Amino acid sequence: MEKFELHTPSFRGEIVIGEGAAAERLPALVKGQKNFVLTDSRVYALYPGFFAEYFGKDSLFVLPEGEKSKTFENLGKILRAMTEAGLHRTSRLFAVGGGVIGDIGGLAAALYMRGISCVQVPTTLLAQVDSGVGGKTAVDLAGVKNVVGAFFQPCEVVVDPMFLRTLSPREIKCGLGEMVKYAALDREIFRTLKENRDRLTDLSFLSSLILPCVQHKAKVVAADERETGERKSLNVGHTTGHAVELASGLSHGECVLWGMLLETQLAGKYGVTDSAYAAELCSLVRDALRAQPVSRLNFSALGGFAEKARSDKKNEEDGNICMAVAKSEGKWTLFSLPFAQYRAGMEAIIAKIGEQFPL
Ligand code: NAD
Repeated sequence: MEKFELHTPSFRGEIVIGEGAAAERLPALVKGQKNFVLTDSRVYALYPGFFAEYFGKDSLFVLPEGEKSKTFENLGKILRAMTEAGLHRTSRLFAVGGGVIGDIGGLAAALYMRGISCVQVPTTLLAQVDSGVGGKTAVDLAGVKNVVGAFFQPCEVVVDPMFLRTLSPREIKCGLGEMVKYAALDREIFRTLKENRDRLTDLSFLSSLILPCVQHKAKVVAADERETGERKSLNVGHTTGHAVELASGLSHGECVLWGMLLETQLAGKYGVTDSAYAAELCSLVRDALRAQPVSRLNFSALGGFAEKARSDKKNEEDGNICMAVAKSEGKWTLFSLPFAQYRAGMEAIIAKIGEQFPL
């Protein structure tokens, strides 16, 4: 079991990672206050014993599973249920689920009585390596992802890989997408993934990388909680990834992989990413995209997905498309292009890739 602190200017939180973390930490965390537990329908159906054991007497709110639940309307319903449950300022919300539950649950905790204690219990690989840590909370609104949200640090993140055994291969691949993002930012993770390309769907191998990914994120968030500088690095692949996600409906992690592939090639073309490194990174991203199950993505049917990048939160008011891209091993930079150049660059790259996966 690994335990360490995430210390930001506003907060000091704990992160506990390892098999058995839930059994070790939850009995103490549920004691001493009123609790409110948020989860989704799939997690609740898969783990009835877990909820009965740790949260038997607590108020429980179960959202339908999936991104479609990450709405302002559902946020209102959760806050109403918290009020009806009679929660106080000293109460605690437990968000038990994937990134959707962590994001909307964290936001509800941030808003209720201007902020109550929150514990994140991430249950997907994506949430364990990424979204459960760092205090970004949000809901989607008017077709724009994560447009309403807050920075709000959980008092503890309990990362227990025992939850991962019930994930579908597609959800594992989704987590792999964010792990490859860390490879673009961290030499050690890059080398480990490169040397184990034949194990990209092997859950025990991927689980061994949760700790280094979370340590990398915790270091970045501690240095720049509000994303004014270094934290922007964690958006590698995400500007284009979100555009592909909005246009295709594929999972977040897979779209991050597509975003990394396309943005790295674009940045290579403009001399922003070192060309030998761009080739190496793209080769790893391609291997991850080829990991099972493979999604077929027909770019010509996406109907100008580049347009979707215009609504990205990371863009500035000058109308340019702003991307965080890998520069060389372990180094990153911001890269902006006027929209017309961005779109033309993407179209040229996609024409070369060919219309359909596999690459
Ligand atoms: P998700 O929460 O929708 O979970 C994916 C699916 O896995 C759901 O059907 C869920 O029911 C199921 N699931 C969860 N745990 C399971 C388990 N143990 N076994 C079997 N099935 C399980 O999505 P996600 O991929 O975890 O997260 C994506 C979300 O995270 C997006 O909304 C994205 O915007 C957000 N995100 C947030 C941050 C952040 O920093 N806050 C970072 C990255 C992504």
